[in-house]
Amino acid sequence: MKFYSLNNTAPEVSFDTAVVNGIAPDKGLYFPEEINPLPISFFENIESFSNEEIAFKAIQQFVSGIVPNDVLKDILKEVLDFDFPVVEITPNIGTLELFHGPTMAFKDVGARFMAQCLGYFSRSTKNEVTVLVATSGDTGGAVANGFLGVEGVNVVILYPSGKVSDIQERQLTTLGKNITALEVDGTFDDCQAMVKNAFLDKELLDEMKLTSANSINVARWLPQLFYFLFAYKQVKSKGKEIVFSVPSGNFGNICAGLVAQRLGMPVKHFIASTNVNDTVPQFMLTKEYNPKPSTATISNAMDVGDPSNFIRIRHLFKDDFEALKKNLSSYSFDDNNTKEALKEIYNISGYIADPHGAVGYLGLKKYQQQHPETYGIFLETAHPVKFLDIVEETLNEKLEIPAQIQKVMGKTKISIKISNYEGLKDFLLKS
Ligand SMILES: *Cc1c(COP(=O)(O)O)cnc(C)c1O
Repeated sequence: MKFYSLNNTAPEVSFDTAVVNGIAPDKGLYFPEEINPLPISFFENIESFSNEEIAFKAIQQFVSGIVPNDVLKDILKEVLDFDFPVVEITPNIGTLELFHGPTMAFKDVGARFMAQCLGYFSRSTKNEVTVLVATSGDTGGAVANGFLGVEGVNVVILYPSGKVSDIQERQLTTLGKNITALEVDGTFDDCQAMVKNAFLDKELLDEMKLTSANSINVARWLPQLFYFLFAYKQVKSKGKEIVFSVPSGNFGNICAGLVAQRLGMPVKHFIASTNVNDTVPQFMLTKEYNPKPSTATISNAMDVGDPSNFIRIRHLFKDDFEALKKNLSSYSFDDNNTKEALKEIYNISGYIADPHGAVGYLGLKKYQQQHPETYGIFLETAHPVKFLDIVEETLNEKLEIPAQIQKVMGKTKISIKISNYEGLKDFLLKS
């Protein structure tokens, strides 16, 4: 399958080129030329398939001609070696836990899938690739972990100093080997802008092969559609119409959910739940897209003022606002709402959510006020322990620290401080 640029002035490319380029030469995001629905029988019999089989059937069309079936199967086996359970909160609300991977955030799947693909593409070349990634929290850890030790690939992670949690910071600054963390005196938007600059810097590009590992990269973005299929498999037997509420920042995860719907998955509606960074909820109200600087919140992985994947969502609906509105609602909540939701979830079910999941819960509740007959799933995108202070303080409970996290707690942070694009460029040219 070919991928085209959403800016329409760059050539169509195959999957491997789209992955290595990250973003098209005309600065557009890549988009698959077709999304062919899976047979109805696939959804009717989904309970009989393993997660690996489901993932294979769902993604094969996008990588066909580039990643052979046997290689794809091996990659999926590695990528999907943990569980994705739907846990019941109330009789008509469940939470899809996406945090059972090595860094305990949902980005593990996309990051590992991309790392495996890039490793496969560079198997026969001697040229090193540098993966450049900006993180608002969880991307960095997942990418660092997914790429650790992958030959021929160096990873450089930019994160906003003082704006990620202690555990998140350790996950991306303590690995060493082919992973370097750059601590930026600025916000996530500054980090993302620097990465975008680097991709357009001819002087740099002459010296090195740069690629991105943000959810603009198709190899990070597309595998996220698996989650929705795994959830559907688990709740289909309830016989209700299903809605998903996705805590959203760059809108890659929810956009992948909308692709799963295009593949034929029966789903009534999607809810994009955000914190006070409400560019998309405002768009859904006013039809005007006004990006703005991001505001720091307790759900920091969603502190994004100009969500990079929203353009893919608009494209999926051919920029038809009414069609989009039929499938997607978007609501914004502040930190107080989020803390109240953490308490409410805990009080009604004993379940400890994280601040991102809590935002998802709030969006779902709001939608279900009008649609009480639906079965709602909110995505738990990170383990609560990653936001230890906030969760413990809000619930007045001590959390147990899982083994994956204990492993990084004792390690020493190593980062390089930079404050502007020149700092990034100097680092890249010297290394
Ligand atoms: C990245 C992230 C999100 C936002 O996902 P997008 O695909 O960027 O919308 C939500 N929650 C957590 C914990 C994350 O790490």
